[in-house]
Amino acid sequence: MELKTPDEIAAMRVTGGFIADLLDALTSRAQVGVNLLDLEDHARGMIAARGAQSCYWDYAPSFGRGPFRNVTCLSVNDACLHGLPRDQVLADGDVLSVDIAVSIDGWVADAARTVIVGTPRPADQRLVDTTERALDAAIAAAVPGHRLGDVSHAIGRVAEDHGYPVNTQFGGHGLGRTMHEDPHVPNRGRPGGGPVLRPGMTLALEPWLCATTDRIVVDDDGWTIRSADGSRASHSEHTIAITDDGARVLTLPL
Ligand code: MG
Repeated sequence: MELKTPDEIAAMRVTGGFIADLLDALTSRAQVGVNLLDLEDHARGMIAARGAQSCYWDYAPSFGRGPFRNVTCLSVNDACLHGLPRDQVLADGDVLSVDIAVSIDGWVADAARTVIVGTPRPADQRLVDTTERALDAAIAAAVPGHRLGDVSHAIGRVAEDHGYPVNTQFGGHGLGRTMHEDPHVPNRGRPGGGPVLRPGMTLALEPWLCATTDRIVVDDDGWTIRSADGSRASHSEHTIAITDDGARVLTLPL
């Protein structure tokens, strides 16, 4: 895995600040009655105006039905990851996760946030709060000298302490010049296992949970991943850099 210089991390911080602005804009627009396609259009406009490049556009991974022709992943209710933006109007109580990755001047950042539209159901709020706590725990564990397994363990422990099962098919990842670099960061793991964390590593940490299952199914659209039992899902992601002082979150507003 490639270690980034302080200047390279500073460049990723610029991209991360823009990702935070995008997520602020999209989640604040995500009100009852808003169509998912309006959110996608708004993101396209912001990305074009900033001169950024979407990492999703034309993305054609082994698992999807590529190429992807959108700049956002919008996953609603039982959709947990890779939600294909569709002609769907948000309703009161919907759980929406927004996941975005872009590059600016060749440097990528990636983040996701889950919001509840209108009035939250208590069970959904608890699920969202838990993915955010799991992300906080992962960031706290991402310090030099710890191992990658400590980060995975931190995520998995928060989830399981709250009674949520953990899927390890999709998780966090290295990133920098491209959206996906080594290593893979599973959302559950053995403390003390895996590579040692070193300053200069840049990682996207992304706990995601389905309320009552760790099994997933893929929609006919070839992209949208849902909980196998129809239970609702939540996803929280930040891009971080490991520094001598611990993890620095790169996807916060500048
Ligand atoms: Mg992401």
